[in-house]
Amino acid sequence: QQADADRTIRHPRSHALFEEAQTLLPGGVNSPVRAFRGVGGDPVFIDRAEGAYLYDVDGNRYLDYVQSWGPMILGHVYPSVLAAVEETARRGFSFGAPTQAESELAKLVIGSVPSVEMIRFVNSGTEATMSALRLARAYTGRSKIIKFSGCYHGHADMLLVQAGSGVATLGLPDSPGVPAEATAHTLTVAYNDANAVEQLFHTFPNDIAAIIVEPVAANMGLVLPQPGFLERLRELTQKYHALLIFDEVMTGFRVALGGMQQRMGITPDVTCFGKIIGGGLPVGAYGGRREVMQQVAPLGPMYQAGTLSGNPLAMAAGIATLQELRKPGQYEKLEQKSELLGEGITRVLHDTGINAQLQRIGAMFCLYFAQEPVTDYASAKRSDTALFSRYFWEMLARGVYLPPSQFEACFISLALEDAMLEETVQSVEFVLRQLA
Ligand code: PLP
Repeated sequence: QQADADRTIRHPRSHALFEEAQTLLPGGVNSPVRAFRGVGGDPVFIDRAEGAYLYDVDGNRYLDYVQSWGPMILGHVYPSVLAAVEETARRGFSFGAPTQAESELAKLVIGSVPSVEMIRFVNSGTEATMSALRLARAYTGRSKIIKFSGCYHGHADMLLVQAGSGVATLGLPDSPGVPAEATAHTLTVAYNDANAVEQLFHTFPNDIAAIIVEPVAANMGLVLPQPGFLERLRELTQKYHALLIFDEVMTGFRVALGGMQQRMGITPDVTCFGKIIGGGLPVGAYGGRREVMQQVAPLGPMYQAGTLSGNPLAMAAGIATLQELRKPGQYEKLEQKSELLGEGITRVLHDTGINAQLQRIGAMFCLYFAQEPVTDYASAKRSDTALFSRYFWEMLARGVYLPPSQFEACFISLALEDAMLEETVQSVEFVLRQLA
């Protein structure tokens, strides 16, 4: 009760705006996790952002570890991205006709991710995965797909089966409104369980069009692929003539310039992108082997289209962002920042004796309030979400904005200076000592 009162005192304008928003928007939001239901209490309304910081409508300042759920890897309002968007806007917002910028962004992605020989831009990660699966089905002439429980690939009907992200946060069963027919061809197995995948291929040797996988599962917190898991998926898809789709909407241009596939040295057939490649504007994309991408209309028969696809403003933000990321040393910097934070939090966990699991790769991490390392959705769900909520609110009160759910990953941006990371470690220490 007292904690609730404190929150309201700190956030009176956010509170009032949320009251109004709830009368206008379902749950007061346009995407479920934003409503803070995973931690209880009202969300903070953001007024503006700059560099590593978010500023709320009550004048509070936060170090941002959400980064609009991933895109803002350079930090907010990065000068060259702002300049590119401003300059582009003066020449028009959208034409529904080809522009050079689309080829520019395509070259930047293709030049960074060797498995991608051709690419199609769409407007969100959801559209990217949905279209990639249609493509895989068109290319193979098969219907079944394999996904992993706790992985989230957007909200297309066929993929809302044991999905992560908001579905996990809210503890929802698979969504009403999805007809059984829509998911009849979706086969779901536990993350990191390649034997179960092999079993499915034994049962349906000629029916599986594709495996879609988050090469790091970042919608149930942060679950790393165990050694050999992704390799087995590559072998099995090759053996059974199915496609391997890496959903790198989250990991693309985050864990390395070439994404998780670069870190692992694995070549998927198709890759899905979103988030960073749009620099904070709405974008998604799917790309892959030329022979596969040649199925896409108008070159091939697989239909997929979009009024705002390849939008000039989004292309401009994406180009400016990727140009910055392609400069030498950027991913080394991100790695150093991640290590600084990771080592600090590990030390705090040791000193406070709190049994929590810090899972981390590149510029993303998750602190699970769990007794054992988390390897799949079942073990993620064993986390103490009540303890996470207390941690979340105490961190917020100390000016650190974390994802409002145990089942979301935290992101590090290039704008986070070492002193800010050290300040974050101090906050973690203060809060965990209180919770211990
Ligand atoms: N795939 C992954 C791995 C994601 O993390 C997300 C969103 O968080 C999506 C797909 C869906 O992207 P969007 O929210 O842009 O539709």
